[in-house]
Amino acid sequence: MASIRIENLRKGFGALEVLKGIDLDIADGEFVCFLGPSGCGKSTLLRSIAGLEELDGGAIRLGDRDITHVPSARRDIAMVFQNYALYPHMNVRKNLSFGLALNGMKRDEIDRRVESAADILRIKELLARKPRQLSGGQRQRVAIGRAIVREPKLFLLDEPLSNLDAGLRVTMRVELAALHARLGATMIYVTHDQVEAMTLSDRVVVLDKGEVSQFGTPLELFYQPANLFVAGFIGSPR
Ligand code: ADP
Ligand code: MG
Repeated sequence: MASIRIENLRKGFGALEVLKGIDLDIADGEFVCFLGPSGCGKSTLLRSIAGLEELDGGAIRLGDRDITHVPSARRDIAMVFQNYALYPHMNVRKNLSFGLALNGMKRDEIDRRVESAADILRIKELLARKPRQLSGGQRQRVAIGRAIVREPKLFLLDEPLSNLDAGLRVTMRVELAALHARLGATMIYVTHDQVEAMTLSDRVVVLDKGEVSQFGTPLELFYQPANLFVAGFIGSPR
């Protein structure tokens, strides 16, 4: 696993400035949430870290490696999206192994990783099923499993629970916390849900219109909000 350092990251789309010079230092093994209202730039920041956006400026380091110009596929970063697009015609085992096989990994190493991820996520008995035979929560576990099998240095999760119903979201939140504890992985989790951010995170990045409004522990945000934006956002009912 690895720390991540972001320096003066800038990204716009045409005339629209979305990220206006982001500086962040995230420690090895930390669970950090990007929290902010819809449109503030959370996904763009996450996609930039993953290498899925062409930057206008700035630098990104993963551990001791400068990855600013490293192609996405070689960044050692796995991303889980909100719309977990599983391959509908492949069973769960194939969904988990497909990407590894494409990269030319040996069969027994693939099997080891798939078994381990299935064990961690408690989906061992589902390996032969197709996505349509799974519940929403099970599908989301498979989507997270596809990230785990890659054994990345960094996990990026973009509102992975927002399509689940409220009860399941709470369950999955607890499971994510357990997963983080078990893997000891560095994780960045995007959400617009303050409760999710406050309960899951070691530290929270509050984003406001493409700028870091505050970066601190949930307690710091709660008791020492840096400004009215943070105070209003943290304190407001959902
Ligand atoms: P969030 O994830 O916080 O809701 P986004 O990062 O998705 O916000 O978007 C930030 C802003 O950038 C929004 O105004 C959005 O419309 C705009 N945006 C995002 N992606 C693109 C794109 N590919 N082209 C043009 N505008 C975009
Ligand atoms: Mg988003």
